[in-house]
Amino acid sequence: MDDQCESAVSAAPSQELPALSPQLLARYAGACPRYTSYPTADRFYPLSGTAGGEQPWDALKNVETLSLYVHIPFCRSLCYFCACNKIITNQYGLASSYLDNVLREAQWYRERVAKAPVVQLHLGGGTPTFLNDGDLTRLMAGLGEIFDLRAGDDVEYSIEADPRVLEDETLDTLRELGFNRLSLGIQDFNLDVQRAVNRICSPEQVRALTEGARARGFGSISYDLIYGLPGQDVASLEQTIDAVMDLAPDRIALYHYAHLPERFKAQRLINTDLIPSPSAKIAMQLAASRRLTEAGYVFLGMDHFARPDDALAQAAAERRLARNFQGYTLMPADALVGLGASAISYSRDGYWQNHHSLKEYAAAIGERGEAICRGWQLNPDDRLRQWLIMELMCHLRIDKGEVEAKTGQSFESAFGAELARLQPMFADGLVGQSESDLYVTERGRWFLRNAAAAFDVYLHGQQTGARYSRVL
Ligand code: SF4
Repeated sequence: MDDQCESAVSAAPSQELPALSPQLLARYAGACPRYTSYPTADRFYPLSGTAGGEQPWDALKNVETLSLYVHIPFCRSLCYFCACNKIITNQYGLASSYLDNVLREAQWYRERVAKAPVVQLHLGGGTPTFLNDGDLTRLMAGLGEIFDLRAGDDVEYSIEADPRVLEDETLDTLRELGFNRLSLGIQDFNLDVQRAVNRICSPEQVRALTEGARARGFGSISYDLIYGLPGQDVASLEQTIDAVMDLAPDRIALYHYAHLPERFKAQRLINTDLIPSPSAKIAMQLAASRRLTEAGYVFLGMDHFARPDDALAQAAAERRLARNFQGYTLMPADALVGLGASAISYSRDGYWQNHHSLKEYAAAIGERGEAICRGWQLNPDDRLRQWLIMELMCHLRIDKGEVEAKTGQSFESAFGAELARLQPMFADGLVGQSESDLYVTERGRWFLRNAAAAFDVYLHGQQTGARYSRVL
């Protein structure tokens, strides 16, 4: 297949396993940002909600659609691979008073945000289902007093759930509260792997919840899987994938385990002797991806797969995909309000993030009603690069004509240095270009973050202490 043909198919999601070799995967396996934002969050500078002058949250007044994220950082036990911002506790009172702070923080936005419909709401963690049904209801009622929450299929209300911490009756509560999407953290079904990461969960538990959620009308169920965990090998991962296929989730995120114990304390509990070698991880990625695509799942790009009848797969085919902090989405909103410890918000003018630690978050909310500690005001060049990166990540191509319209220069002269950085990817057939487009090829879908990184001006020409996860 020549480049022009690859361009023709690159805008549609793939059900074919592209030609990949372990050598090619290894060549691009180094550390690289995931570009859930541009600039990436490690670049944010100190900022507070009391800062004067023009700030990114000022743009909330003019939004027409809104996204909400609430971070619930509590978990009952520690999974050793975890890289999330969480607190392990059995004291429910902590969660209840945390919720008081979240609702107080929401009040801070009352005067600052237009009463725009919330088209997307996501509860993440931690373990959002750590909250009991009464507090889930209290949370949604409190948010409903400030934001324009709506029910129905034209909104996307999702919750991350730990199958070990989700009662069947809670599914009723969640549906009554308007949730229509459920994301279950599976990771791996092999018992030895589960023991090595301290997360024991049977396929039967997951089956019961999946069937229970379907019966109650959840429109989409997605599973998170991880490869590269201690004790995993190709055969055990294939068995997990087969068990997952049997349950037929609508979407699957297949993440790579990044072992960064100096950054994530929990990972120090992992027996490093059991961690698969880089070449074994590559073999796992290839085997798992092949298994999923052979079973009919569409590879959307990055780590995401969807059944062909899933709305995300259809949106990818029609170039309607968008990307936010939760990954690919159908419902891009004009702005995101993130509530809770470490939550990130954005508007068209930039980003702002809350204090990470629960203590600092609670203290800031107590003092000022908000907990912003850092952020970023976008300049015109940031906006252009943000757009370029999102075009590549979501639509796998950049329209040179649009670049010319935005910059007044040809794509080649505006982004000569970036094209030079992409030369190895051109040579490996991962990106290509025609007169009208720069595009990602079929097999280039595996390396979207590498292609996006070429346009990250803060990553190049600067020394950085940032520690990104490896692609593999
Ligand atoms: S992986 Fe999820 S459930 Fe496990 S400790 Fe981390 S946030 Fe909690």
